[in-house]
Amino acid sequence: MIMLNSLVKDNIKNLLPYKVEEYADIIKLDANENNNAAYLLNKKLGRAIMELEINKYPDSDCTELRDMLAEELNLDTCQIVVGCGSDQLISLIMNAFIGDGDKMLTHIPTFGIYKIAAQIAGGTTIEVPLNEDFSFDLNSFVEAMEKEKPKVIFLTNPNNPTGNIIPKEQITKIVQLSKGIVVVDEAYYEFYGESVIDLVNKYENLIVLRTLSKAYGLAGARVGYGVASKRLTDILYRIKPPYNVASLSQLAAKICLMNKEILHDTVREIVEEREKMIDLLEKIPDLKIFKSHANFVLCKLDDARGVYDYLLDNKVLVRYFGEKGPLANCLRISIGTKEENEQVVGLLKNLM
Ligand code: PMP
Repeated sequence: MIMLNSLVKDNIKNLLPYKVEEYADIIKLDANENNNAAYLLNKKLGRAIMELEINKYPDSDCTELRDMLAEELNLDTCQIVVGCGSDQLISLIMNAFIGDGDKMLTHIPTFGIYKIAAQIAGGTTIEVPLNEDFSFDLNSFVEAMEKEKPKVIFLTNPNNPTGNIIPKEQITKIVQLSKGIVVVDEAYYEFYGESVIDLVNKYENLIVLRTLSKAYGLAGARVGYGVASKRLTDILYRIKPPYNVASLSQLAAKICLMNKEILHDTVREIVEEREKMIDLLEKIPDLKIFKSHANFVLCKLDDARGVYDYLLDNKVLVRYFGEKGPLANCLRISIGTKEENEQVVGLLKNLM
């Protein structure tokens, strides 16, 4: 028998599979999808698929899609890289810049994939805690930068799963001080409205990540993109797998961008619903709610596990973060449709 485990690279020996539970017939508020956008573009997509040459490989570099994005962002097409979800771009960045023993610096809590991708690339992650209210601690972050000299920095703005933001002038300061690459993940930008994309022409070490999975309601298509200086995107193109975005997904993304106004309406609704949800949840005793700039809210309760199970028993799936660490006893609830949100708030009120 071949000892498969002994063949596995040391840095990934202790990794566990990234498990995502699937439930049938459930109100799904665990993954920050846009439930308001469901089926809105399916008819248009269905018609366009009739013309699609699925027997051919897709456009390897997503040229048409990048042209559309470049025009919208007033940048050059060569400054954009499209990935199979922004997850793939996170891996590309790590694989391009992080090698054995190299350091990646980020804040904690944040999106868990950065740390996993850094580990797969052979690097180590240094985590600077957010303040107790989950606001960003610039001084500690800059101190860690000076001490650790990371090759790559990841900032998430707005942050997942806390919903907090990092003010633009603080991000700018970090980019200016960094001798490495600074990635600003703007997966939830559309629910917030402030971006640092305009800085990519000023700072060659800055890359901004965006996704069509959230506001654009296209999580199933897996399309994300990175925006940076030409010199930086040139490096990413050296390791980008060919044909990495399926033709079906490119088509869905282009239809999405051509029909932005429909989706903008859903973003507006979600932001309104988020504020309504925060107001309602604030009234529930023993539940602490954090201000959010994204399409979800984070709350802290005494018995988060019990509440999670109770919601699940009532066919509502939210995200639970366990009993340890900075997110102990926290639940993250994605903002769904008006009816879905009313149902969650009703269930929580019954309980308290
Ligand atoms: N960044 C952040 C902050 C996220 O929350 C997510 C999805 N949960 C992603 C990136 C990945 O998005 P996708 O791969 O769907 O583009």
